[in-house]
Amino acid sequence: MKIEKDVPLARLTTIGTGGPARALARPRSLGELEEALRFAAVDGLEVVVVGLGSNLLGADGGVDALVLRLEGGLADVETQEELLVAGGGATNAVCLHRARAAGLGGFEFACAIPGTAGGGVKMNAGAYERDWSDVLVRALVATADGTDWLGPRELELSYRHSGLRPGQVVARAEYSLEARHPAEIRATVAELVARRKATQPTNKRTFGSVFKNPPGDVGAGRMLELCGLKGHQVGGAMISPKHANFIENADAATSADCVALMVEARRRAYEEFGVELEREVVFIGGLELPSGM
Ligand SMILES: Cc1cc2nc3c(=O)[nH]c(=O)nc-3n(C[C@H](O)[C@H](O)[C@H](O)COP(=O)(O)OP(=O)(O)OC[C@H]3O[C@@H](n4cnc5c(N)ncnc54)[C@H](O)[C@@H]3O)c2cc1C
Repeated sequence: MKIEKDVPLARLTTIGTGGPARALARPRSLGELEEALRFAAVDGLEVVVVGLGSNLLGADGGVDALVLRLEGGLADVETQEELLVAGGGATNAVCLHRARAAGLGGFEFACAIPGTAGGGVKMNAGAYERDWSDVLVRALVATADGTDWLGPRELELSYRHSGLRPGQVVARAEYSLEARHPAEIRATVAELVARRKATQPTNKRTFGSVFKNPPGDVGAGRMLELCGLKGHQVGGAMISPKHANFIENADAATSADCVALMVEARRRAYEEFGVELEREVVFIGGLELPSGM
């Protein structure tokens, strides 16, 4: 398997920021994935999996790790009766397409989530009152020590959270779906995508939701909007004028710009609402938000 050196994280993430990954491997089979994980363990290298990089922010100085991107057989999708079996690197768009072609419904909620099966499991991604825990039967998780099938309970799925640790890689995911006419699936998806386009910046470079919604009635986006932060900019990073829980790469932003904007947003939400917003976006390469306000 080829190891690429110093590939910029900016090329591996939807926000388009971040410095070089020390090493990048693209395993195409379970055997290659296990080989890469053993190689990292022997060399004492941290492992970071990148799906579509749609909820990731990487340090401008890069990441000193073996970055894995699952491709080939690890991004395949097939259906077996009412089961959809996806490689960890399979995109949600391909999964949805295959499900619809096979007349299987239940995955439509993921139509506007631009990630992979592995990223969906790790983040317990969700929308429209559904998330991965509603459809996931089990996931094949690979580590340097071998593989294991884990169910939703063992994966500890809760709101935008799983118990998966660094070095645990979702190689495959099985979803339980149900028979539905393709035309009905198509109509639902069209409606959900239209709703999404009306409220969120779907054609900008972002990493999805910046913060998790805090308990209570006011979501993170509404809170930041009430703080007057829509359109607020630090360097090239801007709080989306369309939805305040998104940061757009408006003008050659750096990850440091995004972090500075997040610090400001948290401070303002704390001052106005007494709420400590918790980040949803995953940081890699040693990025941190200061713990205090
Ligand atoms: C425009 C936009 C809209 C979005 N809307 C939503 C939404 O409605 N709901 C929602 O929940 N999210 C949303 N997101 C965020 C994001 O798409 C999801 O969190 C998605 O599930 C991330 O998948 P990914 O493959 O891109 O993961 P990445 O962003 O690449 O990685 C996220 C985390 O998952 C880990 N990971 C990735 N693949 C694997 C694997 N195979 N095994 C183990 N760990 C892995 C990474 O190491 C990292 O910790 C949105 C993002 C964008 C840009």
